[in-house]
Amino acid sequence: MKKYTIICKQDEVSYAIKQQLKDGLDGTMIYDEEHPELVISVGGDGTMLYCVHCYEKQLDKVAFIGLHTGTLGFLTDYQKDEVEKFIDDIKKGDYHFYNRYLLDIKTNKGEYLALNELRIENNMRSQVLDVFINGEFFETFRGNGLCVCTASGSTAYNKSLGGAVVCSGVGIMQLSEIAGIHHNAYRSLGSSLILDATHRIHFESQDFRNSVLGIDQHVYDLKDVKYIDVCLSKTCARFVQYKHVSLMERLKRAYL
Ligand code: NAD
Repeated sequence: MKKYTIICKQDEVSYAIKQQLKDGLDGTMIYDEEHPELVISVGGDGTMLYCVHCYEKQLDKVAFIGLHTGTLGFLTDYQKDEVEKFIDDIKKGDYHFYNRYLLDIKTNKGEYLALNELRIENNMRSQVLDVFINGEFFETFRGNGLCVCTASGSTAYNKSLGGAVVCSGVGIMQLSEIAGIHHNAYRSLGSSLILDATHRIHFESQDFRNSVLGIDQHVYDLKDVKYIDVCLSKTCARFVQYKHVSLMERLKRAYL
């Protein structure tokens, strides 16, 4: 990898680290914002989501790596006191690639990719959603909404919903409820449902008023949307690994 760029969070610590990285990599790699082979994220997991969406049209040519300016993240490998090590590791060039699965999302109004998840959310009233899986009617959900995450997104919003944490290299999508209503009249599965790449989930509603479609850090109005389709994408986001940080280590640091 010869060409790289850095996207950083808008704060002083991240700006300073960006400059330190640029100085350290000067003469080793060429800074190229338009056609980078390596995209370095400096910030938090949100900054990495932003990076992947910035380069989502070039995912076949780009690889991602992150340095976290807070505590260790789930999408980032280095911490802010490891800048010199990060530069040394890049210079040594001893790395391998790994893929993070993405979701392909289609509505009658647009097409999107998600690294973490899609959320159909309504905080104003109960959202009714008919859920079909591979063309077969599955359930009618009522509540605040539904979330479909990737393995990478399982530690984000999905975890707050009580969904399972999944090892990031696994090609699954996980459907979880957001405050589902369960009583005699209204029944839906309640537990999270994990599906593999052979499945496609289709959501329909007679009324998406006040409901929004959240895709990672983006939020879209569902006005005039009739349906939402989601499946695992054939496109992956390629990440670079210079040093291994286990999922257990990340979970322990973040939650235990
Ligand atoms: P944000 O700044 O509100 O970030 C929310 C938190 O989610 C941050 O702490 C971020 O580090 C963390 N996060 C993001 N991706 C993660 C991942 N893959 N694993 C573990 N933690 C992760 O929002 P943002 O920076 O715009 O990021 C958007 C993401 O925030 C969404 O994709 C969603 O998953 C997450 N989020 C979570 C909740 C929740 O848990 N209740 C609420 C809103 C958004």
